[in-house]
Amino acid sequence: MLGAHVSIAGGLHNAPYNGKAGTCEVVQIFTRSRNRWGGRKILPGEVEQFLQAQEETKVRVVCAHDSYLINLASPDRALFRKSWTALLEETKRCDLLEIPLLVAHPGSHVGSGEAKGLKRIAEAINRVFDRSSDGKVSICLETTAGQGTSLGHRFEHLAEILARVENRDRIGICLDTCHIFAAGYPIRTREEYRATMKAFDQVLGLKRLRVIHMNDSKKGPGSCVDRHEHIGRGRIGKVPFGLFLNDRRLLRVPKIIETPKASAREDRINLKRLRSLIEVGPAGRPKPRSSCRGRR
Ligand SMILES: [Zn+2]
Repeated sequence: MLGAHVSIAGGLHNAPYNGKAGTCEVVQIFTRSRNRWGGRKILPGEVEQFLQAQEETKVRVVCAHDSYLINLASPDRALFRKSWTALLEETKRCDLLEIPLLVAHPGSHVGSGEAKGLKRIAEAINRVFDRSSDGKVSICLETTAGQGTSLGHRFEHLAEILARVENRDRIGICLDTCHIFAAGYPIRTREEYRATMKAFDQVLGLKRLRVIHMNDSKKGPGSCVDRHEHIGRGRIGKVPFGLFLNDRRLLRVPKIIETPKASAREDRINLKRLRSLIEVGPAGRPKPRSSCRGRR
C-alpha cells in the first residue's frame, strides 16, 4: 500500500481524486487547515461524497495528520488544554469520515524538560480517549527529527508515552524515515537498517507500527533537522527505501510519501521510484520477474 499526502482543497472528496492523479493506492490528508485552530463542521453530505470518491477511485484515505499547532507537551496550561481538545476534535472528524488512523506529533516540551513533557503527552492522550470511549480511530505517534525541544526523536520517548497511556488498543506509531535518519538512527546499509528496526522492535514492538512516512532527507544523519527530499535524491538515498518496501514484516503497513510537490506529477515520479524497488509480491512471495514474460 503506497501513497502520498494529498490536498483537500475544494472539499474533502477531492483527496481520493488527487491521490488517483498521483498513482496512489492510499492517501493521507489533513481533515482541516493544518495551521489554524478549529475547523468548519463536516456535513453529512460531505461524508457521503468523501466515501463515494474512495469507492469510485479505489484510493483509500488511510490516515489523517493532526494540526501543526497542537502541542500535547506544552507547559502552558491554556495551550495544553487547547491542544488536547483539538486532538479530541480531530479524532471525532476521523471517526465521522471513517479514517482509521490519525498521525500526531508528540509535542515539544519548550524547556520544561523531557520527563515532564512526555508525561503531559500521555495525559493528553488519556483525556482524549476518556472523552471518546466509543471512538474507533487509532492515534499514531510520529517519530520526530528532534528539532528544538520536540519529543519523540528517541524510540524510548514514545515507549515512555505508551507505558502511560491507559487504552493501548487505540495507539500506534508512525515511523518517518527522514525523521529517524535526521535523529541519528542509521538506515543506509542493510546492517544499519536491521539494527535500527531491531531497536524499534525491542523498544516499541513492530506490531505498533501502523504507518510509515517514506521521505528522503535534505539534511545529514544526526542533523536533527526535518527537511523532506524526493526519494533517492537526498542524504538517505534510494537503497534504504527498498529495505523498508521488501521487509516482509511491513508489507501490510501503509507507506506514505510527504515529499515536496507542486502537482501530482512529483508524486507519480517518487512513487514510480519506490515501486521500482519492490522485489516481493503482496503475500510476501518474490515478485515474478518481467524477464520471464516471454518464456515458453
Ligand atoms: Zn512525517
